[in-house]
Amino acid sequence: MSRKQRSKRKKVDKVKRSCRRSTIPPSIERAILLGNRHACCVCQKPRVQLHHIDSNPSNNDPSNVAALCLDHHDMATMQIGLTKKLQPEDVRTYKAEWEERCRNDILALSRKRFTFYYCIYKNPQRLLGAYASLSEHERKSAVKRIRARLKEEEPQKKADQLFGMNAVPRVDPHTREALDSVEAGETAPSYLQARDLEWDPEKPYHSQGHYMAFHRFDLWCQIVGQTLAEARGTTPLEDLYKFRTAKEIDAFAGSLVTYRLTVRGKGIHVPRAYRGHPTGSLHAQARSGGQVYCVNMHIRTKDMFSDTSALNLRHGRISGAAILTGALKSKGEIQMTLVPLLIGAGGWNLYPEKYK
Ligand SMILES: [Zn+2]
Repeated sequence: MSRKQRSKRKKVDKVKRSCRRSTIPPSIERAILLGNRHACCVCQKPRVQLHHIDSNPSNNDPSNVAALCLDHHDMATMQIGLTKKLQPEDVRTYKAEWEERCRNDILALSRKRFTFYYCIYKNPQRLLGAYASLSEHERKSAVKRIRARLKEEEPQKKADQLFGMNAVPRVDPHTREALDSVEAGETAPSYLQARDLEWDPEKPYHSQGHYMAFHRFDLWCQIVGQTLAEARGTTPLEDLYKFRTAKEIDAFAGSLVTYRLTVRGKGIHVPRAYRGHPTGSLHAQARSGGQVYCVNMHIRTKDMFSDTSALNLRHGRISGAAILTGALKSKGEIQMTLVPLLIGAGGWNLYPEKYK
């Protein structure tokens, strides 16, 4: 090999190395995209590239990586005279402001999706499993935030009670009991036992004589769900639709997601038929960027609230929270599997037109 060839090879290796160095680890890339809701932090346009703010391609610290559209990426990299059009300190400010707004918007969305006229399905086992993983500090500070928020929402809720059947947590003695119980880290609401109203989550609703126990346990589960969301944060399901591959979505397995969906149910039976039909499933579909995303959830018949709930789940609009268990590509579609923790129905849609 001549000296010229050797020097050329060295140059190529150097370029290759720098390319490799500039590769942002996929986990950081996904986190930045999700944290910026796949939008440019300057102008909020979609279709973004990731940019190293300090121009050092090996500094992949999340604080140094910004999501920018093509135009703003150009402005941040191209030098005109001695200065760049978009200075690193400007990008840092835009990034901080936009990420803060995204966090607040997601939190507001999450709270909205936990607010429904009634809870048509709950999954006490999975709720309790996730709740057990919270530290005492996480639990207590989350409950503190919920208390403050309920106080603020109370006047509005009163005006909203169209049907007089609002099962949404509110500031009343039962909600206070449920909040105290969750704050103390109880794994079952002791206030039910104290009144001789024991609730066995393994038994379907109709076999229990205690109507009040049923409702108060339901409320307790909603508080547990809200505590989880406040402590761990949630991801809106539609934000996952912005990822183009099943692999990227699958990396979020285990995350708490919130959703608002129009679902179709398969094998949905009324709760008292749970022995012959222990499970059913819910399906929804969305299209984003030419890709079809299918959402699939398995539900347990006996964890449904009522016969009307079954009606809603056969075809209806629902909102709530779930744990993403995975995603894979099948027949050109991205299939996502979720375990629902809570499913609620809005009062405006108690009786969907079609439910065959
Ligand atoms: Zn932009």
